[in-house]
Amino acid sequence: MHPSPEHGEIPPTAGLQLDAGDLRPLRGADLAGALAALTDRPDALLTCSGTAALVVALQTLAEHSSRREVVVPGYTCPLVVLAIAHCGLRARLCDTRPGHFEMDPATLEALTGPQTLAVVPAHLGGRLADTETVARIAHAAGACVIEDAAQALGARHADATAAAGAGDIGLYSLAAGKGLSIYEGGLLMAAEPALHEALRLTARKVLARHPLWELRRSLELLGYWALYNPSGLRLAYGMPLRRALRHGDPVGAVGDRFGSNIPLHRVGPWRRAVGTRAAARLPAFLDQTREQARSRMTRLKQLPGIEVLDDRDGEQGTWPYLLLMMPDECSRDLALERLWTRGIGVSRLFVHALPDYPELAGMIVPDAVPNARDFAARSLTVSNSPWLDDTRFDTIMEALGMALAEARQGRAT
Ligand SMILES: *Cc1c(COP(=O)(O)O)cnc(C)c1O
Repeated sequence: MHPSPEHGEIPPTAGLQLDAGDLRPLRGADLAGALAALTDRPDALLTCSGTAALVVALQTLAEHSSRREVVVPGYTCPLVVLAIAHCGLRARLCDTRPGHFEMDPATLEALTGPQTLAVVPAHLGGRLADTETVARIAHAAGACVIEDAAQALGARHADATAAAGAGDIGLYSLAAGKGLSIYEGGLLMAAEPALHEALRLTARKVLARHPLWELRRSLELLGYWALYNPSGLRLAYGMPLRRALRHGDPVGAVGDRFGSNIPLHRVGPWRRAVGTRAAARLPAFLDQTREQARSRMTRLKQLPGIEVLDDRDGEQGTWPYLLLMMPDECSRDLALERLWTRGIGVSRLFVHALPDYPELAGMIVPDAVPNARDFAARSLTVSNSPWLDDTRFDTIMEALGMALAEARQGRAT
């Protein structure tokens, strides 16, 4: 149906392509129900974004508590901080473990206390953060765990719990680029029935019908259907990315810059229908990308000095992209110089650790996060889109090898 990807653009993450058939209306479409095989929660609440899900969760908790701090990893999505600020709460930053995005347990223990309302661990790129340890520390301080599985719909912890099911509250994102997309959307759930009911009541209050926002999102979803293919992505993703990089704006290039206004509204029936039809293909798509990731990870691990983040024993993650750690910032930047503008799916995740986004400055307590900064400086992502064929993956392997060699030479002289 779509032109060959030969001259097309590879998206930075493996998103599920929409079919024309997905666009037909569907009476009584039940998107949460259609995803229940992956989430175990047919009663999950549908929200207009992952950020909106977090707003609903935080408002619900804040209504029943005088605690006002929310602890987040020093390296996570900047929208998490916007949601916290929107609710009138303060973000505390917990440094990460060395070479990883998950919170360092000793640092977390020191940060949590009688002011801590919630702790928000995040699973990035389908890799699971150790939520059990976070929950033990948070609960000892009387705080809740909100599990941010925005990038992990379909992943399971080692005990087979769904990615958003190990905390007190959990959320997924259905934004463009995160697997299954209704352009912007989210799912929200709580483990305890009483808390889940409280979330439902807050959602009903906070997410009102808003026909203009819904019209805009519906048109954007149509655009996503039309352009989420290698030739459309050149126009919609590749060209703006290269323009941003030419202007020395990496934050703009990865789409990390957000307005401080968080749209809050109800998702309409047509977008629910589109998501419900597409959801039927998601499990097979996740299996296909998992298989591709396995074989490519084996090859990447042969490059000396590169580390690829992987599942731990028993975990079953998802694979929108492969998350690579280079030996140092120099080799990472040399690799990006060769690959970022090539249209073959190599990019960065969030450009900065949270304290390094100027627009977040007033919203966070300036805790030092050296490991999170190191993670931002050394990491890069390789798309796991099925459109990234072996020829182009070979090009990536070769460029990574050259960047590593060049960096070694630079160090030797
Ligand atoms: C994208 C993302 C969010 C926010 O989800 P949206 O649906 O884009 O609002 C939150 N946390 C993480 C880790 C994300 O990647």
